[in-house]
Amino acid sequence: MLAQKAQTTLIPVVSSPLVQAGAPYACPACGQPALGLVPWPVNPANPCKLDDWAAHIWYLRRNCGCRTGGRVARLGDCITPLEFSYDRSLNYEQRVQANITALRDALALLSAVMPANAPEPDRKLDQPGTGGSNGHST
Ligand SMILES: [Zn+2]
Repeated sequence: MLAQKAQTTLIPVVSSPLVQAGAPYACPACGQPALGLVPWPVNPANPCKLDDWAAHIWYLRRNCGCRTGGRVARLGDCITPLEFSYDRSLNYEQRVQANITALRDALALLSAVMPANAPEPDRKLDQPGTGGSNGHST
């Protein structure tokens, strides 16, 4: 028997007010309803390392006029504000690297607060407990 006991370890749920679990989204700055999300614009003529992360960088469309909080990191349907570095003491490569780090941090936050059963982009939604036919019977 290799059946392991179900672990009862509780994953602490960090409830961050900055994380929004799904549409409809609201402006993080003023709380007004947002119009929707638009993805990171990949420009083939001007490639950027951040293009690799395009699936996770989105912008809130808003008509509230706020100038901050418009860029978000997205994991599944969860989003959280994503601040990019415009530190002029860094060169371009360093800023890109800083931005990737910021994005990874934001995605780590999102994955920590996401409901465990939320579908992830790279995982097919498997329904547990649907029948017991997982192969062949002798
Ligand atoms: Zn706003």
